[in-house]
Amino acid sequence: MQYQQSVLHQKSLLLCAIGKECYELGWSPATSSNYSIRYDNKHCAITSSGKHKGRLQPEDILLVDFSGTPITQGKPSAETLLHTQLYQADDKIGAVLHTHSPASVMLSQFLTSNELVLQGWELLKALPGILSHEESVTIPILNNSQDIKALAKEVDEKMKTEDLCAYLIKGHGIYTWGKSLDDCFRHLEALEALMSYELTALSLK
Ligand SMILES: [Zn+2]
Repeated sequence: MQYQQSVLHQKSLLLCAIGKECYELGWSPATSSNYSIRYDNKHCAITSSGKHKGRLQPEDILLVDFSGTPITQGKPSAETLLHTQLYQADDKIGAVLHTHSPASVMLSQFLTSNELVLQGWELLKALPGILSHEESVTIPILNNSQDIKALAKEVDEKMKTEDLCAYLIKGHGIYTWGKSLDDCFRHLEALEALMSYELTALSLK
């Protein structure tokens, strides 16, 4: 596959900067998490496996095709297929962020329901298509599994019938996406704040 080194480098720099922010916010501890940006209609740039997310360098980002096969040097994360599934399911998705933030891990682990319903919070309006705090946003909670192909298939099925902006994996973390990396990061920031409200609300009950 022919690719433009300068384009990949530019996208890699953006992912390095996002990694630093996510790490400093405490959302990506101990080399966890992965981030990606669409390259074209068959490829994305994604973080290599096992890299410290606060100290990412452009060489820690690799280009993969949507089957998860590396095009450039580097070891793709085990969770690469959860990114490429999203790009294939919706061609408007331009970036995907996955973190192991404490709020996403705690809520997904301890909620007894298989979904998190967010409603009544003004910040919901930072999420796509939400115009009022009175609207509700449902975030599915999937069971954690090391079978990434099966998880990707489960997400794919859900996206056929539900208008999702994110999902949680139990005791593991969150996936969210957006048209651009900026949009995606705004969704992540909003969801993190909303999940922290929910955690506080639960502790006050
Ligand atoms: Zn993960």
